[in-house]
Amino acid sequence: MDHFAYRDGVMHAEDVALPAIAEAVGTPVYVYSTATFRRHAQVFREALKGAGRVHLAYAIKANPNVAVLRVLADEGYGADVVSAGEMQRALAAGIPASDIVFSGVGKTRRELAQALDAGIGQFNLELEEEGEVLAALAHARGERAPAVLRVNPDVDAGTHAKISTGRKENKFGVAIDQAVAMFDRLSKQDGLDLRGVAIHIGSQLADLAPLEAAYARIGELVAELRAAGHTISRVDLGGGLGVPYKPGDVLPSPADYGAMVARATADWDVELMFEPGRVIAGNAGVLLTEVIWVKPGVVNPYVIVDAAMNDLARVAMYDAYHDFVAVEPSGDRMTANIAGPVCETGDTFAMGRDIDAVKSGDLGIFRTAGAYGATMASTYNSRALVPEVLVDGDRFAVVADRIHPETILAAERVPEWLKR
Ligand SMILES: *Cc1c(COP(=O)(O)O)cnc(C)c1O
Repeated sequence: MDHFAYRDGVMHAEDVALPAIAEAVGTPVYVYSTATFRRHAQVFREALKGAGRVHLAYAIKANPNVAVLRVLADEGYGADVVSAGEMQRALAAGIPASDIVFSGVGKTRRELAQALDAGIGQFNLELEEEGEVLAALAHARGERAPAVLRVNPDVDAGTHAKISTGRKENKFGVAIDQAVAMFDRLSKQDGLDLRGVAIHIGSQLADLAPLEAAYARIGELVAELRAAGHTISRVDLGGGLGVPYKPGDVLPSPADYGAMVARATADWDVELMFEPGRVIAGNAGVLLTEVIWVKPGVVNPYVIVDAAMNDLARVAMYDAYHDFVAVEPSGDRMTANIAGPVCETGDTFAMGRDIDAVKSGDLGIFRTAGAYGATMASTYNSRALVPEVLVDGDRFAVVADRIHPETILAAERVPEWLKR
């Protein structure tokens, strides 16, 4: 459920009519709903009530805007970060360092040191050497770094290959059959406080079965580690829950997920960590865009909008589907292709889709753009970096400026030898 709905024939974000935002900020622009973020955060937390001790770390790569992080910090969420830059954002939003989990397959030595300096709550180790380096850095500071070992359970998450992370050929985690021996060795490092294990098998999961299979493997691993004499106090179950993108999509609800987790982990006796991203942010944002032209096509007309693949990369990257609706629909329909201005055929949001009839100058939205939207934006084709607006009830604020091409140009240099 989200808070984007028509009132008197005009699409609103909570109590704000979207044309008012287009007027004030221009298009394209991402528009987020505070109430939707809060609702998703609360529903997810509620869903895990039956799962015992739980720590929620919002995977901030889904939507790292500092205002969004502030809302989720208010809701009691920690952060799952994958770079020092994300850690800085989480800290800037007021998330306590102890509630931050540092994931990622390529943390640099410098990032490990920065995270130790900040005193973050958990390092998710991706390889043995990383554990040794972290241990040495922590030991030199007279500390023990809190850590878990990320394992790759070798299950097929059944999602798009580019967002599948838990098959043995993927780059993430250590092979589950090597995990016990590696845990043995790493647990002997003075500078490490190795508390348990982590998994994250992929994103936009439409089915709970692969997650349940992965959790079962982790349950067996926890038992093996305990049998080998290790104290296991934490298991990090990652993120990955999908959201509906198409009208009519049926996905497992947070409540279904919570019930599965409670069942799968009933006898684990650990603190469970979760790293939800998309399920919190996906439906909390839309990309507001204006129709530039309706260009006649050979088969269907092309609706050319002022948003493009540089603003919302998911369609070009993952063949993703984003629902498109007019902000002030006339009631008429058309069959059209929807594309942006970028000079790539991949800059196409939909082909031959039945949509609200639109004409030049009309506003439309791509729905479910709150996760992996603005954060993946670029300035390709020397377009502006897309701005972000946060709505709260009847007020709204620009929470990320539009970065204009002249600002980007000003950061580039012509070397002496090319000057004339
Ligand atoms: C991306 C990621 C997440 C969040 O995934 P969602 O599908 O957005 O919930 C969680 N944990 C890790 C380690 C990730 O890389």
